[in-house]
Amino acid sequence: MQISVNEAACEGHALCQLAAPDVFALDDDGLVQLVHEQLPEALEARAEAGARVCPVAALSIVR
Ligand code: SF4
Repeated sequence: MQISVNEAACEGHALCQLAAPDVFALDDDGLVQLVHEQLPEALEARAEAGARVCPVAALSIVR
C-alpha cells in the first residue's frame, strides 16, 4: 500500500498529522509530507485513517 499526496491540493490543515503523526508530518511550509518513503505495513490502518480526515481530499490510498 502507498499513499498518494496531491501537494497542490494540501492546505496544511494538519488533520492527517493529528490522526496519524507516525505517517504524516508538515514541512517548513506547513504542507503535508510523508514520514516514511515506504509505508510500513503496521501503519497502514493509521495511514488510511489520516487520509480519510483530510478536508480537501489531498491524500489517497494506492494499492
Ligand atoms: S489534512 Fe489534508 S490539507 Fe491538511 S495537511 Fe493533511 S493533506 Fe494537507
